[in-house]
Amino acid sequence: MTMNCKPIPTLDDRINDIRQRTAEIVNEDVLPNEDRLWATRHEGESMEHRREVLELRTDIKEKVKKAGLWAPHLPTEYGGMGLEFLAHAYMNEVLAYAIGAASLFGVVAPNSGNQSILAKYGTKEQKEQWLLPLIDGTMESGFSMTEPENAGSDPRSLTTTAVEDGDHWVINGHKWFTSNGIEADFFIVMCRAVRAGKEPTKNDPMVQIIVPTTVPGVNIVRGIGIWGQKESDHCEVRYEDVRVPIENALGQVGEGHQAAQDRLGAGRIYHCMNSVGQMWRAFDLMVERARSREVHGGLLQDKQFIQGFIADSYIDIQAARLMTLHAAEKIDQGLQAARTDISAIKVFVPSAYMRVVDRAIQVWGAAGVSNDLPLSAMFLGARTLRIADGPDEVHRILIAKNVLGQYAKGEGWDFGN
Ligand SMILES: Cc1cc2nc3c(=O)[nH]c(=O)nc-3n(C[C@H](O)[C@H](O)[C@H](O)COP(=O)(O)OP(=O)(O)OC[C@H]3O[C@@H](n4cnc5c(N)ncnc54)[C@H](O)[C@@H]3O)c2cc1C
Repeated sequence: MTMNCKPIPTLDDRINDIRQRTAEIVNEDVLPNEDRLWATRHEGESMEHRREVLELRTDIKEKVKKAGLWAPHLPTEYGGMGLEFLAHAYMNEVLAYAIGAASLFGVVAPNSGNQSILAKYGTKEQKEQWLLPLIDGTMESGFSMTEPENAGSDPRSLTTTAVEDGDHWVINGHKWFTSNGIEADFFIVMCRAVRAGKEPTKNDPMVQIIVPTTVPGVNIVRGIGIWGQKESDHCEVRYEDVRVPIENALGQVGEGHQAAQDRLGAGRIYHCMNSVGQMWRAFDLMVERARSREVHGGLLQDKQFIQGFIADSYIDIQAARLMTLHAAEKIDQGLQAARTDISAIKVFVPSAYMRVVDRAIQVWGAAGVSNDLPLSAMFLGARTLRIADGPDEVHRILIAKNVLGQYAKGEGWDFGN
């Protein structure tokens, strides 16, 4: 089944055109090849097959570039589409319908987040050295913030230190869940800038530092096994007396926390719109199965349990989608204005995504948990999203704090704005 994506009457022609052309590539080039495109789904494949797959990926990427749909998150001067949030959000739901399609459109986390941060905070030299190779695909990167000994949901607890020593930083710390760690050529590492000889404190300013993975002292301990797999590319990393030039600081010392917020704020909208695209796909799969599977003398679609699944999933998707588009509209007015709504979608959308996929799995029965369908991978992805980029509880606290703050000023909440 292909994605049914028609022009939206209330949207301007430019965004509709982007969505239509994206859907065309997703429907004609990605979906029919989904099984072949992602090699890990076919262990033991021949070299020739592997070559064919790589060629196919390259061909689709070329088509995307020709259509002017490459790297929606990047400014035009770096070969991207320079899309504002709302347009990007509308494009993302279409992209995410097919498994892995985003990477064929030049959007691959964590590289895409690092690209945006380098484009915003990087010096001319940093852009030349790190951003351009990241964009042309000759380099890979990771973002290294979370630490096993400290709560990732409380960034103030972070203890990795960067001490100035002449014209170098000396970095020491222990991180984990640094995604893409196996392939990465460099990490953007979140540190505390500490004066030489001083004990680190929670008041020391945060700084993000670009660290090439080949520098002595960057020790990848392991790719952490997750969800029953032995290994993943989410790495545990020890930074042991790592020396990098002072000019590797990304932005000013003290801007590290803000840069991370910029990155995560934007990332949360993209993740949520991805989730919406994947829910849409799961919904199509569920309804398709309900229309064709006979059980106990009738089609699943005629059983009221299943009709309930369809109705509840419809409600979940509409709510998740409209909330995310609302947050994307707001973020175009500035990150601060959208903070409550970003937290709201960060809580609501992954849970709605889990519910929708869970129902689709149930309708498919055993096939639902098999690797023949994308549903089981979607389910694990949805569960993970409730932790990554800030767990549910932290966002609930933030929503309540903002709401209560508003009432404390003597004003009610204005849901119209
Ligand atoms: C697949 C995956 C990929 C990731 N990729 C990256 C990456 O590339 N780079 C990176 O730096 N990090 C990455 N992370 C880490 C992620 O950002 C952290 O896991 C997340 O911020 C939560 O931090 P934590 O795991 O330390 O949990 P903790 O902070 O220890 O929190 C544990 C639990 O405590 C509860 N909790 C927390 N605060 C409160 C509170 N105030 N009140 C009540 N309950 C609370 C929540 O239920 C939370 O889940 C990744 C994580 C996963 C799972």
